[in-house]
Amino acid sequence: MTVALRMNHLHVPTLKEDPAEAEIASHRLLLRAGLIRKAAAGIYTFLPLGWRSVRKIEQIVREEMDAIGSQEVLLPFVQPAELWQDSGRWDAYGPELARLHDRQGREFCLAPTHEEIITALVRGEVRSYRDLPLSLYQINLKFRDEMRPRFGLLRGREFIMKDAYSFHDSQESLQEHYDDQARAYGRICDRLGLVYRPVEADSGQIGGSVTTEFMALADTGEAALVYCECGWAANVEAAGTVVPRTPGTTEPRPMERVHTPDIRTIAQLAEFLGTPAHDTVKTMAGKTPDGTLIFFCVPGDRELNDVKASRAVPGVELLAEEDFAAYNIPKGSLGPVSPPEGTVVVADVSLRDEVAWGIGANENDYHLVGAMPGRDFEVGLWADLVVAEPGDGCPVCGGTLLGARGIEVSQVFQLGTKYSESLGATFTTEDGAERPFLMGCYGVGITRSLAAVIEQHHDDAGIVWPMSVAPVEVAVVPLAVDDETVWPVAEKLWRELADADVEVIIDDRDERAGVKFADADLVGYPYQVVVGKRGVAAGVIELKNRATGERTEIPIEDLTETLAARVREERARYR
Ligand code: ATP
Ligand code: MG
Repeated sequence: MTVALRMNHLHVPTLKEDPAEAEIASHRLLLRAGLIRKAAAGIYTFLPLGWRSVRKIEQIVREEMDAIGSQEVLLPFVQPAELWQDSGRWDAYGPELARLHDRQGREFCLAPTHEEIITALVRGEVRSYRDLPLSLYQINLKFRDEMRPRFGLLRGREFIMKDAYSFHDSQESLQEHYDDQARAYGRICDRLGLVYRPVEADSGQIGGSVTTEFMALADTGEAALVYCECGWAANVEAAGTVVPRTPGTTEPRPMERVHTPDIRTIAQLAEFLGTPAHDTVKTMAGKTPDGTLIFFCVPGDRELNDVKASRAVPGVELLAEEDFAAYNIPKGSLGPVSPPEGTVVVADVSLRDEVAWGIGANENDYHLVGAMPGRDFEVGLWADLVVAEPGDGCPVCGGTLLGARGIEVSQVFQLGTKYSESLGATFTTEDGAERPFLMGCYGVGITRSLAAVIEQHHDDAGIVWPMSVAPVEVAVVPLAVDDETVWPVAEKLWRELADADVEVIIDDRDERAGVKFADADLVGYPYQVVVGKRGVAAGVIELKNRATGERTEIPIEDLTETLAARVREERARYR
């Protein structure tokens, strides 16, 4: 179908000023270029051009899913509570899950993800190993009542996701499809023109253990990454790490209790003790579901990684303000020596060779110096607990880690039998046994990807689309719409380009040239065909390449063929 649009017929409300609420480029440009409008916090309307780009992203994702044998379906967005109760996530999901009642008072939720509903579907339909593997996907809305919706489409509450779910009778089969999905995700990033890195990740709410996130690299990304020249890369949430440490004191010394009334921070403590901050130890308290108190000890200059903490102690939660009084411990002066009865000390492995710890004394205004594990206190568990940082050692090769920031555009997971077991989804094996399906799930943030593309592809004047995602490939810009030499030439080129299968829009507005150029750069059509009175008189038009800024004069009669060839060439780069 040809795409020949007229600006006058299209709702493209570009804005001259930067919207005050937009902190980052993609949010600002999506609003300014007239691609989206906000309806409520984290909830957006897609305007005609924005929607065209969304549809292009969806189409790329669709082609890649179809190519690996996943089949498109559409699952319900409103889901019955019972399924979520059965999987245990009705409670576990917390306030991010938006819940509602129907007129009979039955409970439902808005889908934040679709594992439950698809497992229930397959449970009723697929019975035999002969029907496996099975992979289904959809492109649909999700709703997550995010605590901090921000950055426009990057962290919305309502957003579009492609999610695929696969069902298998063996780990090999799951691994094979997981690898297919991961390769497809790499191709999707390439076709969207994204510079990206696959990284090791944490599986969070979804569950499972084998998982990879695809990160579009961007300084504005919310995720911090570490990577090594050996090829290993991880989200710092999940990154194993080797903290480089040289113990400040190598000889044990007696433990001393010191009065430290003015010391509130690790920096102050380090100064008081005359040691570097990394020679102090800070202690954070958590509790397990059965109420056992856990003291996590990490080097003073490092942060405790919540994900690693809950991996070391399943179910642990850091104490809330009111818990400190309940356990009768001083929040600002915790330490592993003489904690309340029954407390388990879990310490970061990097502290293992440290024989003289500077720590809180579990008493306000007092610290202990020279505390030694094994002599003055017991460590119940040594574990990797800290957030990885650039400069740490690579857990694979020992090299030095580098840092980057990224936008998580997609993630693949091996779920194992988590959902098939809790929801009773089984199949019959060749030997007649009943087994729960092995499952995988695979998500691409469609609308987040759109924002990520803009984050990576813009300049001061506006968006610089990769051809594959541009809402329209070419803009014809007649500089004087009522000029009888200019308009007919512009209109003819517009029609010819459309006939040559190029997506084209004509700026038929009666606006000054400056306004048209600014809008064309802002929306970022990859090519602008500028038709002016002087050029037409000389038999040429000016062709501007948005990405390079290059302008060339081309004889009017050659324009369509030349430009159509260039557009085809650039499309091919993203195939
Ligand atoms: P995040 O860690 O950023 O909150 P997530 O890991 O919870 O995301 P997944 O459950 O892995 O997200 O969902 C798959 C994809 O859906 C993500 O990779 C991302 O592209 C997209 N996505 C998730 N949450 C949002 C959101 N709030 N707004 C837009 N896209 C999102
Ligand atoms: Mg994720």
